[in-house]
Amino acid sequence: MNENLKLEDIVSLAKRRGFVYQGSDVYGGLSGTWDYGPLGVSLKRNIMNLWWSMFVDERDDMYGVDAAILMNQKVWQASGHVDTFTDPLVECSNCKGRFRADKLDNPNKCPGCGKEGTFGEARAFNMMFKTNVGPVADESSISYLRPETAQGIFTNYKNVVDNFYPDLPFGIAQMGKAFRNEISPRDFVFRAREFEQMEIEYFVHPDKWEEAFEHWVAKCKEWFEALGLPASSVHELEVPEDDRAHYSKRTIDFEFDYPIGREELMGLAYRTDFDLRNIERVSKKSMEYQVKGTNEKFVPHVIEPSFGVERALMAVLVSAYREDEQNGEKRIYLALPEHLAPVKYAVSPLLKNKPELVEKAREVYKKLAKQNPGRVMWDDNGNIGKRYRRQDEIGTPYCVVIDFQTLEDDTVTVRERDTTVQKRLQTDELTTKQ
Ligand code: ATP
Repeated sequence: MNENLKLEDIVSLAKRRGFVYQGSDVYGGLSGTWDYGPLGVSLKRNIMNLWWSMFVDERDDMYGVDAAILMNQKVWQASGHVDTFTDPLVECSNCKGRFRADKLDNPNKCPGCGKEGTFGEARAFNMMFKTNVGPVADESSISYLRPETAQGIFTNYKNVVDNFYPDLPFGIAQMGKAFRNEISPRDFVFRAREFEQMEIEYFVHPDKWEEAFEHWVAKCKEWFEALGLPASSVHELEVPEDDRAHYSKRTIDFEFDYPIGREELMGLAYRTDFDLRNIERVSKKSMEYQVKGTNEKFVPHVIEPSFGVERALMAVLVSAYREDEQNGEKRIYLALPEHLAPVKYAVSPLLKNKPELVEKAREVYKKLAKQNPGRVMWDDNGNIGKRYRRQDEIGTPYCVVIDFQTLEDDTVTVRERDTTVQKRLQTDELTTKQ
């Protein structure tokens, strides 16, 4: 990986090539929000679809749900979020800037105005976005934009058990938006106020949590590999007891070497029966699981792998970012794994003012597009060199060029992104190879 890579390099490429824009950019932006452009949508979806196929579709012990973002306020009272989902906030008496106390480089120096000794006592700031549901704004109509997808899984645990009666261990998975009113959103999409999570609650017999935990450590590593993250850039941090959430008996944070430093990519936690017990306490409904054919009953324990989409996407971009020299000129390219690249094939006629080339190129384009829906780009802008540059920067593994020889022998030039090697292939070979 490129050790000199700066966050600005990623942000600038993401913007100029249509991956990620500042949210509400045209109005000066809205801090902590990001919009995905045409290529960002594809990359993000490819990541999320890969996750769903690896962790839901390809397993027979996993159930998917898609819960509402707005939930009954009791969910967040029972889970402890109303009382404890807080970060410590300090305010500078000089510039009135507000900062997250535990993320300051120097706890006595204001990063806003540079003055020292201007912070008062830290206070607990709740990060949930509060709203009211319905036309009457009173205590009973309070709701929150969910700060995690996990609770939408726990609240559906009983529905899934009653409908499907799965054997233990089994998991419920969900992906979708989460919202946190972060005090200091920063570092591109790394710390946003609106982001996406992909979470699994894996329900196990209380005596079997350790083997399930190890299973998920291994699965997380497979996921990093599928994303193309170098193993040497991912680090396991065994979170010490004092830093763990009070209900967690074991937590591993998987950290990644981002250009901003080594930071949390995702977390894996053993949450015991904390959440299901909370639901029992507040809803007065039993969350017990009865082992089939026996009288054995208990509240299952839970292993939770919690993946953040944005942090995965940022790690993918960082891992793929390359610079080299081609014909004496600097080249930037994204060595994205083929299955994640937003565009797999770019198709071009060598010259766009030769109708016979354009027609043949359209034919090849159509065939490829049919086999790779949404992943083939028509590109006839600028000269061929410029097209290659553009496609390299968005990580397109193959550029297919139709030239005069194509009209004679039905072969096309296929140029590979990483090596820049060009090969001639029969059109049929290309369009039947997938
Ligand atoms: P941090 O300590 O960095 O604030 P966290 O420990 O609060 O993160 P969790 O509550 O464990 O994070 O959330 C699970 C995952 O959701 C994180 O590992 C991360 O991938 C993602 N995530 C959490 N907060 C954000 C955010 N503000 N922006 C983008 N992704 C986030």
